[in-house]
Amino acid sequence: MRILITGGSGMVGKHLKEILPEAIYPTREECDLTDIDNLRWLISAYNPDKIIHLAAKVGGIQDNIKKPAEYFDDNVLMNTNLLKVAYEYNVKRFIGVLSTCIYPDKVTSYPMVETDMFLGPPTTTNFSYGYAKRCLAVQIEAYNKQYNTKYNYITPCNLYSEHDNFNNKNKMHFITSLLSKIKNSKGTINLLGTGKPLRQFMYAGDLAYILKEMVNKDIISSFNVAPSDNLSIDSITKIALKTLDIKSKINYIMPELDGQYRKDVSNTKMLKYFPNFNFTSLEEGIKKVYDKIS
Ligand code: NAP
Repeated sequence: MRILITGGSGMVGKHLKEILPEAIYPTREECDLTDIDNLRWLISAYNPDKIIHLAAKVGGIQDNIKKPAEYFDDNVLMNTNLLKVAYEYNVKRFIGVLSTCIYPDKVTSYPMVETDMFLGPPTTTNFSYGYAKRCLAVQIEAYNKQYNTKYNYITPCNLYSEHDNFNNKNKMHFITSLLSKIKNSKGTINLLGTGKPLRQFMYAGDLAYILKEMVNKDIISSFNVAPSDNLSIDSITKIALKTLDIKSKINYIMPELDGQYRKDVSNTKMLKYFPNFNFTSLEEGIKKVYDKIS
């Protein structure tokens, strides 16, 4: 079975390379996914049976606010090209990787389930990224209906990892950025917002494991991937300080920068396929990442 994985140089891709080294990981230099001719060459050259599509234009809130057109164009173009070429070359399985940013800004009942996707528009801060990812879900379902393909997608919550981009503040994810602040704090950690928003965080290695198992067990259902815990930013910060045995004071600045209050998703559907799955605990994940921060 030939498996081709896009976005292999990214945070999740690096975890997949560790546990699925036999897969094909084309670099962006080998194939820019926004170039359909380049992509046709790639897929015909490797002739994969299955594709895991990780590649995306991913970034922090400020970058999303500054460049909404780029986030929409790049993601829609990459997804459309890849799906089209996968079908043209008779690729049997395609797993798209979305994000909980696809879900509505607010719903009446939490955690959100897979069918809640169309109950309202995504949050304003990363509206175009969220919408582009939502389009991929629509596109995959459309291919399945029109062409009888067995393509699917998963929707992970926020991720963190020792493979995060430590040198690029525009790309660093919340937990990594928090741990970096803790490591460099001189008694006080300044955090943006009020600390009240609730978030689910998953160790990126857990997502890689789920993807590997989906390919090996030929799981073609679409579902959310997230641990059950939905913690406030303040609780997460306190857990990090306790885990690392550091006694810094937490100081909240610019309360207007809180962002979406909550966006937790249900993992009930996922657990039907992975009933014994144990997510890496936040404490364990924090220890893995903290040592790698300079
Ligand atoms: P990442 O670290 O930002 O990596 C993105 C990958 O996409 C990189 O390998 C990048 O290549 C590649 N890429 C971007 N534009 C490309 C293009 N035009 N042609 C070819 N390759 C291109 O992303 P990640 O954090 O691993 O995320 C993996 C997937 O999970 C993404 O689909 C993301 O939307 C989704 N997700 C992420 C999170 C999170 O918190 N990170 C949460 C939920 C869902 P270069 O290295 O060459 O730039």
